[in-house]
Amino acid sequence: MNTLRSRLQTIFAIATLLLAADAASGALTLVKPGQRSHIIVTGENASEPERFAATELSRYLEKISRVRLGIYRANQDLPENQGDRVILLGSAAPHSVWLELSQKSEDAYIVRTVENSLILAGASSRATLYAVYDFLESLGVGFPRPGHSHLMTQRPEPLEREETIPRRSVISVPPVDRMEIPSFSYRAMLPFPMIRDRSVREIDWVAKNRLNWVHLITNTDLSIWETEEVREVLMPQIRKRGLHVQGIGHSFFAYIPIERYGAEHPEYFAVIDGERAVDPKKHARGGLCVSNPEVVKLMATNMSDFLKQNPEIEIIDLWTNDSAAWCACKPCQQMQGASPGPDGRYATTTRSYLRFVNQVARILGRKHPKVMVNALAYALNTRVDPETKPAGNVIVGVAPWGRATYGGSDDYYVPITEPGPVNSTLHPTILGWLELTKNFYLYDYYANRSEFFPIMDTLRKDYAYYKTIGLDKVSTETFMWDEFNVWAYARLAWDHTTPLKNLVSEFCRIAYRSGAKPMETFYMELERQKWLWPQHRAVLAPLLVEAKSLAEVAFDPTVVAKIERLELWLEKDPQKTWPHDNPPPPLKD
Ligand SMILES: [Zn+2]
Repeated sequence: MNTLRSRLQTIFAIATLLLAADAASGALTLVKPGQRSHIIVTGENASEPERFAATELSRYLEKISRVRLGIYRANQDLPENQGDRVILLGSAAPHSVWLELSQKSEDAYIVRTVENSLILAGASSRATLYAVYDFLESLGVGFPRPGHSHLMTQRPEPLEREETIPRRSVISVPPVDRMEIPSFSYRAMLPFPMIRDRSVREIDWVAKNRLNWVHLITNTDLSIWETEEVREVLMPQIRKRGLHVQGIGHSFFAYIPIERYGAEHPEYFAVIDGERAVDPKKHARGGLCVSNPEVVKLMATNMSDFLKQNPEIEIIDLWTNDSAAWCACKPCQQMQGASPGPDGRYATTTRSYLRFVNQVARILGRKHPKVMVNALAYALNTRVDPETKPAGNVIVGVAPWGRATYGGSDDYYVPITEPGPVNSTLHPTILGWLELTKNFYLYDYYANRSEFFPIMDTLRKDYAYYKTIGLDKVSTETFMWDEFNVWAYARLAWDHTTPLKNLVSEFCRIAYRSGAKPMETFYMELERQKWLWPQHRAVLAPLLVEAKSLAEVAFDPTVVAKIERLELWLEKDPQKTWPHDNPPPPLKD
C-alpha cells in the first residue's frame, strides 16, 4: 500500500508540475494520459460541413494520440465536470466570435484559445473546416498531395503514409489568437482528367488545402458525368465540405450534341469549308451557328435542364469545343463584324462568341438568377472586344495555354509583367478584360509538364501584381500533378506573401519527412536555376540520393517512391523550350 501511495504521490507531483508548466506557458492540454480529454462541441443545428469538420478533427487527433475525443452538440447534455475543457467548432463559438467574422469574407476563420477552451470557427461552415485543418497543421500534420494523384489511371487507395501525421501521447496548444483571411476570393482546382477515385481524393485535398472551388470537367463528352458517378460519388464529397462547384468545360457539343441534332437540324451547326459541319466523326470538335436564335434558345433550355439535375453548380461553363472551328455563315460573319481569312479561319471570334454567351445568359438568368455563366477567353476568343461587355451574370476566365505548353513557350518562367512570347500579349489581354468586368478569373497550368517546372518565383511575383490590379480569382488544372507547384499554388492563393523559403521548407517537411533537409536544398536550387536546371544535375543528383537514403533508413516507402520519380525526371531533358537570351533573374522574396 505504501508503495502504491508513494507511487501515486509521485505521479500527482509530476502531474502538478506539468500542469504548473502548462499554466505558466498558458498552454492548454487537449490530450494527456491520465487526464480527461477535451470534447468537441458543434452548434445545435450544425450544418453538414460543420459536422464533418468535427469528425475530421476527432479522427486526426486520434491518429496523433490514439485518444478519441467525443463529439457533442451544443445544448446536448455534456459530460459532467467537463468545465471549459471544450473545443468549440463553428456555430458553437461564442456570439462575439460570430460578430467578428460576420464582417469578413466567407472563407475567413478564427483559431483562438480562451482559458481551457479552443475555438475553431469560420465565417462559413467550409471555413470552419479550414480552421480545423489549419489547427491540425499547427500540430505538425501535413497534406502534401493526394496519393497517386500523378497517375492517369484508376488506382486503389493511396498508401497510408501519404499524409504526414506526428505521433504523440500529449497534445498541448500554446496560446493562439489568429484570424485568417485569404488573399484570393476564388481559389479553384480542376481535377483533370476527371477520374472518379482520383477526383474523390482531390476534392478531399482541395478542402484540406483551403481551396474553395472544384471545377469539374467533362468537356464535350457529358457521358463522363455518368461514368465517373458525379451525382452519386463526387457531389456528396463536395457538399460535405461546403465547396463551390463549377462545370463542365468545353461544352458546345455537351449541351447540343452533334449526334442528337446534326441530322435533323444541320442549321444549328457551324458552316466550315462551305457546308454545315454535322459529321460526328469528322466534326467532333466543330462549332455551332451562334447567330441562330434557335441555337440560343436550345442552349439555354438544355443548360437549364442540366442545372436542374445538378443544383450544386454555381458557375456553368459555356465554352466552345476545344478547337478554333467557327461558323462562316453570313449572319455569323455579321455578328462577328469580320470574315474568315483565306485559310477559312477568323483572326478572332470573341465578339460573336461573347454576344452568344450573353444572350444565353440572359435567358438562363431568369430561371437561375444565382448562377453565373462562364465564358472562356481561350484560343480565338482570347482577345478582348472593347465593344462587347460581358453580361452581369457572366464570368470570364482567361486560359493561357500557350504559357505552359511544350510547343508554346516557357513564359511561366517570367513574371507576367515582363516580356515573353506569350506574356507580351497575355498581360494587356488580362488588363483589357478587367476593364470590362471584375467577374474575371485565371485558368492556369502549373502542373502540365511531366518534368521539373520550377516557376514559384513567377507565381509569387504574378500574385503580388494581380493584387494591385484587382484580380482576385485564380485556378489551376491538376493534370500531371507537379506536387510542389500544386501545393504551393494553394498556399499562395491563400497568402500570396508567403516567402519562397517557407514554402519550400514546409513542403519538404510534410512531403519528404526524414529526407526533408536535402530536399529543401534540392528545391531551392531547382527554383534558383529555373530553366537552367539541366546544367546543374551534378549538384541536384546527390541531394536526391541523400534524401532517399534517409527515407530508406526511416522505412518510409512513400517518400522513397516519390524521390525515385524525381530521379527519373532529373535524367530527362525538358521537352521543348524557347531560347532564353538572358540568365534567369535572381530569386527575390
Ligand atoms: Zn452561323
